[in-house]
Amino acid sequence: MRRSIATVCLSGTLDDKLRAAAAAGFDGVEIFENDLIAAPLRPERVRERCDELGLSIDLYQPFRDFEAVGPEQLERNLRRARHKFALMRRLGADTVLVCSSVSPDAVDDDDLAAEQLHRLASEAAEHGMRVAYEALAWGRHVNTWRHSWGIVRRGDHPALGLCLDSFHVLSREPEPSGIADVPGEKLFFLQLADAPRLDMDVLQWSRHHRLFPGQGAFDLTSFTAQVLAAEYQGPLSLEVFNDVFRQSPPDRAAVDAMRSLIALEEGLAGVPELVRPDARAELSRPPAAPELAGFAFAELAVDADSGPVVGRALASLGFAHIGQHRSKPVQLWQQGEARIVLNAGAGDATGIAAVAVETDDPGRSARRAQELCAPALPRTRGPEEADLTAVAAPDGSSVFFCRTGADPASWLSDFIRTGDASTSIAGISRIDHIGLTQPFDYFDEATLFYRSVLGLDPRDDSEFAAPFGLVRSRAVTDPKGRVRIVLNGSLLRRGEWAPDIPDPQHIAFHTDDIIATARTLAERGAPLLRVPDNYYDDLDARRHVDPDLLADMRAYGVLHDRDAHGEYFHCHTELLGSRVFFEIVQRVDDYTGYGAVNAPVRMAAHRDTRLART
Ligand code: MG
Ligand code: MG
Repeated sequence: MRRSIATVCLSGTLDDKLRAAAAAGFDGVEIFENDLIAAPLRPERVRERCDELGLSIDLYQPFRDFEAVGPEQLERNLRRARHKFALMRRLGADTVLVCSSVSPDAVDDDDLAAEQLHRLASEAAEHGMRVAYEALAWGRHVNTWRHSWGIVRRGDHPALGLCLDSFHVLSREPEPSGIADVPGEKLFFLQLADAPRLDMDVLQWSRHHRLFPGQGAFDLTSFTAQVLAAEYQGPLSLEVFNDVFRQSPPDRAAVDAMRSLIALEEGLAGVPELVRPDARAELSRPPAAPELAGFAFAELAVDADSGPVVGRALASLGFAHIGQHRSKPVQLWQQGEARIVLNAGAGDATGIAAVAVETDDPGRSARRAQELCAPALPRTRGPEEADLTAVAAPDGSSVFFCRTGADPASWLSDFIRTGDASTSIAGISRIDHIGLTQPFDYFDEATLFYRSVLGLDPRDDSEFAAPFGLVRSRAVTDPKGRVRIVLNGSLLRRGEWAPDIPDPQHIAFHTDDIIATARTLAERGAPLLRVPDNYYDDLDARRHVDPDLLADMRAYGVLHDRDAHGEYFHCHTELLGSRVFFEIVQRVDDYTGYGAVNAPVRMAAHRDTRLART
């Protein structure tokens, strides 16, 4: 399957974009007209540049406001088209995208539109070119793919066909039907974009919020399968307008884009009944994501100051220091099945350096990650050390693939035993979730990374007003809820005024009895975060909480949330070092969230504690 990307998806000048597309392994590009106009390279040189980079120019776009106009305007439009055909010849491009008119001069007359597009296609054919007609979702008279198909059929010219753009189709009709019945030779081009579900003007939605496949809410697998079932022969091409991608490093965005197509192809290979056999054979199929059994451990990088602080906090939470690494300044702490690795040799800043997941097959997990363009990390190992495969996540943390169990090559054998964790002192049994702040530019990339590389599903999207700005939050979890990662980020790029914790991270531990655990923690001198009385007054007003329970919650800073499936109780430690804290959670029944509603209260409390300390 050939893969293309529109230059408009990427940041930079035309040359930046072409280099990034080629480096990420794309076969071709759509040249967006504005990128060409602003480029110092003449069209012949752009063509040579693409040849050097191994890129074909699969589409020239967009040609606007052509059809259904009066005779004089038609002549002016044809003159404009002839110039573009000459330009395309110099570029070596043979297909032009003509999008449905938005002009107030266009009339609502399908016969006229078809006749004029026929004329345009005739002229294109004389130049050895084709016209791909696309219905913009906000086209003045033509704004559905079915309507554009009716006009193309009526136009009846071999050089006139359709461009299907998933955004324009799915923004208006989430489950389109009939695409598979369009003759393949009439499907000239396929543009793919995902998007979040937003209730807003479709033009604004398209211009600012498109995403790469797998990052939004559209069912692109079914859509693309229908197009392939129609025997579409062209490339899978991405056309994504996104405010953040427009300012992100193009090399990285291109890799993100490539990952999105590989993951989409994998999904298509999973619906074989919809995809014709020859296309099916071309789809990439990374090794299937192995089932995940939970977190093997979380690794915290610590320095000379934070190491003892975090160690004391873990001890106060009931963790035992059970192992010392054979060759590195690394400690293993454990309670129940919750394991924390403190690494004093990784760097200077305190933070979650790695998340290790338990997989059925670490080798397969690693091969899958590699095929999905996850950067593999080199590992240094001593003579007796387990070979842990690791890849880099978008936020710079590592993801390790482990099989802890009875495996003699287990990473646990790297540690000399210094203690034992046979009793769970505070009732903590495992890691419930890990919260990672994502760099602003990479939030959507992170969603796709965890979704595709680890096979986790995005869910529980929320936005909340925190003391220092809007925060967006999204969880990615395995189907059984054993690996849950919460991705947080600013909704807007942060300014200078940021008195909150920069890029906070947390590790949440599970208990079956939050009050008993919190009481033990308090007795052991754990640095529990104090929550203002106002919170409990409000909670009492909103919910009828048993007075004894409310008193305990108040005493230990336990917060509460409820959803349709159950309840959630959680408390937090103060900040340990510059950005990391621990959370203790109890899930009652089938509560699936993370208490996002309480995050602003927790953030304000963290701020107050910090101010009180300085
Ligand atoms: Mg388009
Ligand atoms: Mg949390």
